[in-house]
Amino acid sequence: MENKAKTTTYTDYGLLQTPELYEYLLETSVYPREAKPLKEIRALTSTHSQSFMGAAPDSGQFLAFILKLINAKKTIEIGVFTGYSLLLTALTIPDDGKITAIDVDRSAYEIGLPVIEKAGVKHKINFIESQALPVLDQLLGDPANKETFDFAFVDADKENYKNYHERVLELLKPGGVVIYDNTLWGGTVAMAEELVPEGRMMVRDVAIEFNKYLGTDGRVQISQVPLGDGVTICRRL
Ligand code: SAH
Ligand code: CA
Repeated sequence: MENKAKTTTYTDYGLLQTPELYEYLLETSVYPREAKPLKEIRALTSTHSQSFMGAAPDSGQFLAFILKLINAKKTIEIGVFTGYSLLLTALTIPDDGKITAIDVDRSAYEIGLPVIEKAGVKHKINFIESQALPVLDQLLGDPANKETFDFAFVDADKENYKNYHERVLELLKPGGVVIYDNTLWGGTVAMAEELVPEGRMMVRDVAIEFNKYLGTDGRVQISQVPLGDGVTICRRL
């Protein structure tokens, strides 16, 4: 028993009770179905100093499920990093589908880019290296873009989720879906303040505010799913 003592962090088991349960879920339901290029991106990402930012594969599987369910063709992604969710989206939407992908950091995207190219799906991606807000405003500046997107995945700076929400809702078709990642922020949203690690406090507070906001936003139907680090799925009414 003593020998088994091991330090675990929240990233080892998401929001589940034990690392073993998370491992079970991944081994049983996720890894056997995960496309090879996605495994490659995960392997490449593990060498990155901020690899913890990479999307959880179980959340990815959920994302793909929704994309298929709604037949998403035109999508937008805010927060690309090394491209796990981006490649997953590109592999899931039809060959003539389009993804507008925004990130301030092109160098992380370039880590996954060779895998995306090899997978033959780069033609679906329009990568824009920029702060996301000005790009969204620019898109909305052209009325032809309004209500044309089927799907959005928001996974960038949590402080701006509320700003992204306002803009994304205008870009989505009625019935379109937006998914927000990390909405339970390691479970800190419901922790006593004194138990929240110092470094997680700020985002914890914005996550609490954002969740409260979505909780009463009558423009969307929502479901808070405790997968990965918490994903909130919203369907525009
Ligand atoms: N979806 C990715 C993970 C994204 S991590 C995956 O599947 O692995 C968050 C990303 O958001 C980082 O790459 C960071 O550069 C980007 N980001 C942070 N603030 C941003 C902003 N204001 N505008 C655009 N991108 C931003
Ligand atoms: Ca994330």
